[in-house]
Amino acid sequence: MEVNFGGIIPVSTVDWYGKVSMVIFFRKCPLRCPYCQNYALLEGDEFVDIQEIESEIEKAKDFVNAVVFSGGEPAMQFEQMKRLADFAKRCKLLVGIETNGCYPERLRELIRMKLVDVIFLDVKAPLSDPELYAKVSGADGKKVVSLVRKSLEICKDRLEVRTTVFRGLVCKKEHIKAIAEEIPPVTYVIQQGRPEQGPSEELKRYDAPSRDELMELARVARQFLSHVRIRTKEFGEEVIT
Ligand code: SF4
Repeated sequence: MEVNFGGIIPVSTVDWYGKVSMVIFFRKCPLRCPYCQNYALLEGDEFVDIQEIESEIEKAKDFVNAVVFSGGEPAMQFEQMKRLADFAKRCKLLVGIETNGCYPERLRELIRMKLVDVIFLDVKAPLSDPELYAKVSGADGKKVVSLVRKSLEICKDRLEVRTTVFRGLVCKKEHIKAIAEEIPPVTYVIQQGRPEQGPSEELKRYDAPSRDELMELARVARQFLSHVRIRTKEFGEEVIT
């Protein structure tokens, strides 16, 4: 079996709060977010034998406690992801998936097979605003919102929701309030968007939102949710009490 492979970070302390993880990137994604920091993975192919990736997991298993599948959208290569998750589990590692939520039934299947511990699900904009969702995802907003809603429901027992904040896109208190009201009572992370890392020239006209701005947004979310964190380049992850 081959994987359309985007790369590996052998040791990461930022992809799963409190864990040391190996991050495996899959190519391709059904969305086209204007800020995608991994946009090089959206086009082109690089196929590698899945055993090569298994051997990387095997080598890392004594130094990390988790494997995180990322991309691109890892659930697009479902058979490959299932096999690697099963391999990681047999190595006694935790498994996390960073997903845009477009494949709810695949997430359900992974949960049913006990192959995933945490699903890191992007809620990119208020689900009540399909037009804005279309703008942030570069896709059919109504369709994506409906899939994300389904994923939230399916994964609610093992979920961390993430929103990445960009000026000129999703950055207002009312955006965060709407999201915090719409999602289940799970951990919610507000991430500092880095426009310089994405393909959109329009977004590059703006600075990244500051830590103080993220703090303000997090205080709004905190009115509805018990577990809120912000993530910035300068300070890493901070819990909002
Ligand atoms: S969902 Fe993620 S990988 Fe896909 S285009 Fe958006 S930011 Fe990039």
